[in-house]
Amino acid sequence: MYADIIIDITHEKLDKIFQYSIPSGLEGVLKIGMEVIVPFGRGNKETKGYVIGFSGQTDYDQSKIKEIICVAKGSVAIEAKLVALAAWMKDYYGGTMIQALKTVIPIKRQERIQEKRSIRLLLNEEEGKWQLEVFLHKNQKARARLLAALLDQPEQDYNLLTKKLNVTKSVVRALEEQKIISMDSEKVFRNPVGHRNYKGEIPNYTPEQQHAIDAFWDDYRQGIRAAYLVYGITGSGKTEVYMEMIGRVLEEGRQAIVLIPEIALTYQTVMRFYGRFGDRVSILNSRMSQGERYDQMERVKAGEVDVMIGPRSALFTPFPRLGLIVIDEEHETTYKSEQVPRYHARETAIERARMEDASVVLGSATPSLESFYACKNGRFQLFELKKRAGSQELPAVYVEDMRKEMKAGNRSILSDKLKSLIELRLRKQEQIMLFLNRRGYAGFVSCRACGYVVKCPHCDVALSAHRNGKMVCHYCGHEEPQVRVCPSCGSRYIGGFKAGTQQIEELVIHQFPGARVLRMDMDTTRTKDGHEKILEAFASEEADILIGTQMIVKGHDFPNVTLVGILAADMSLYSNDYRAGERTFQLLTQAAGRAGRGKSKGEVVIQTYSPEHYSIEMAAAQDYDGFYDAEMNYRRLMGYPPVEQLLAVLMTGADEEILEKAAKYLKEFVLRIDKNRILNVIGPASPYVAKVNDVYRRILYLKGRDYRLLIEVKNRMEQYIEINKGFQTLRIQFDFNPMNVF
Ligand code: ADP
Ligand code: ZN
Ligand code: ZN
Repeated sequence: MYADIIIDITHEKLDKIFQYSIPSGLEGVLKIGMEVIVPFGRGNKETKGYVIGFSGQTDYDQSKIKEIICVAKGSVAIEAKLVALAAWMKDYYGGTMIQALKTVIPIKRQERIQEKRSIRLLLNEEEGKWQLEVFLHKNQKARARLLAALLDQPEQDYNLLTKKLNVTKSVVRALEEQKIISMDSEKVFRNPVGHRNYKGEIPNYTPEQQHAIDAFWDDYRQGIRAAYLVYGITGSGKTEVYMEMIGRVLEEGRQAIVLIPEIALTYQTVMRFYGRFGDRVSILNSRMSQGERYDQMERVKAGEVDVMIGPRSALFTPFPRLGLIVIDEEHETTYKSEQVPRYHARETAIERARMEDASVVLGSATPSLESFYACKNGRFQLFELKKRAGSQELPAVYVEDMRKEMKAGNRSILSDKLKSLIELRLRKQEQIMLFLNRRGYAGFVSCRACGYVVKCPHCDVALSAHRNGKMVCHYCGHEEPQVRVCPSCGSRYIGGFKAGTQQIEELVIHQFPGARVLRMDMDTTRTKDGHEKILEAFASEEADILIGTQMIVKGHDFPNVTLVGILAADMSLYSNDYRAGERTFQLLTQAAGRAGRGKSKGEVVIQTYSPEHYSIEMAAAQDYDGFYDAEMNYRRLMGYPPVEQLLAVLMTGADEEILEKAAKYLKEFVLRIDKNRILNVIGPASPYVAKVNDVYRRILYLKGRDYRLLIEVKNRMEQYIEINKGFQTLRIQFDFNPMNVF
């Protein structure tokens, strides 16, 4: 036996594995993740490494293979735990050990050596304005430009500002000499939250909150570690519960990770944590560069941080004394990685917690079926928060059948009910949110006479009509001019089938002249902080109506919003996906939860073409239990997760023939090893998107009750694929309980 060892784990080139032989004293002792001392390099320098796997043979000259010296003594290096977690992920989700390691270990990057320089204004506003007059008077335009910008915002990044204003170094130096500005340079080793005087108040907990806290704490104090689900409607005080639990865990000298979906990771939320725990809190987000993330991880290792808040990847924060992992909005699909290993943060958190003697607290207003099912069968413990924490009442919900509107002669995107409620709100100066279940100016282009849908010639997906008169493919970027007549039947009734946010914005402006409208979608939030800026403008009541996609239904609290309109509620019902019903229910419930967060009661209008669908009916009734039962019936009937386990094997390749053949062979292989037909093998099929960028895709589904068995079959497939030349030109990925296929 040989041990596969990596030497410098934080190095960018993680893909170098060295093989060492195992001395007899360590046989059976050595485990994946262990830190060992090995001779390395020409001088055989004693170096630390991590065991990442074992193999029975080696490609090297056996006589040249060196032997492990010993296991590193008393080493509880956090990396060792993360390496072990990576090994678990590789096994549980498929892929290579290197891919798993790259997911859990922060990688060093050169860029981080760069210093960040900023320019700071030393004058107060009055002095500054006076000085500006002087520069203008003397016609010193560059100096004036720089000063004017700093009067707007007294501290700015040197590189960005000088580039933007087109001012030279000498201008900056001149102002520096005049003591108008100072140049600050700092290593980027800093707390992204910054220092602010903000003190959070701890409320008197409601009995429901108190119960959750006490039950958790009773367990924790006794050394019982478990997974809990806090199921509470929006505004029921879940975040307060998490913070209290975290506070107690910190007092024990332990540390906590809080996962929040990127989109809900708002300034408001971060400041609540900061108010409670001060600068022991740090954040991660996807806008940070690799270097900035690396620095955060270094701060953690240096012991400067005890609470890390961030999206999925924050799960791998290298805390040495992890005590609690909180996952807010645990139902969110973004907790599933779309890269190999395609891990789910919930399961991975539970495994990390198990390895490190920590607990996991999940929270949601609309729990995933997986988590609620786990509560029913006792794997998780359930805490319910049924009431809103403040005095807020639940909103009234109306379902508007758009087919009836059409029959009654209303061809508008807005139902009569929604129109009149909007008018009422505008008169009362209350705010309105209009939520649209999709993206873009107009959706796919279809013929109303024959049903023909215009598709991308490379990707087999519908093209989207854009305002510039083109139709665009969102997978590969292919563009072509908008068609005027149907290529199939010649009819002229061809066009964008459903409205997009831009179109709704135009309609609303036209229909309600004088109303101040903001729009938030992929187009208006492309810039850094674009999304935050729009939300802040709306929060400070700079607009009456906010129109947007998914993004507007999460995170922020808008106390003055008393009306929420949900347009095309059922768009997400017709996506080709076994989770469509669940996703629709979640979106509607969440959107409805935005109404009436302040003093006045809220109203919600759900517009739909299928009011009888249980997802819509139950969302309107705000009945999660009813939805859960109906959806579980469907999952049981179809054998979908969480009742059964589903393994998707996604195969891609440029040569369709080879792909087709390989997919068939792989299926036959599975049938050969599953002699007793315990698994249900489906496909190979062309997935919903059968071709992307001229690369073909095939998918094979394996269903079974036993996840371990699926892992075993996956491992056998991985071996089979590796030794068979026929698979060499293909890419094959495994996806356990996928979020968005079928
Ligand atoms: P959730 O996370 O479930 O949406 P939050 O914890 O954000 O709920 O609470 C919603 C609002 O109610 C927040 O403004 C919070 O400060 C307030 N709140 C929470 N718990 C209490 C309580 N026990 N008493 C008074 N206000 C509370
Ligand atoms: Zn047609
Ligand atoms: Zn395309």
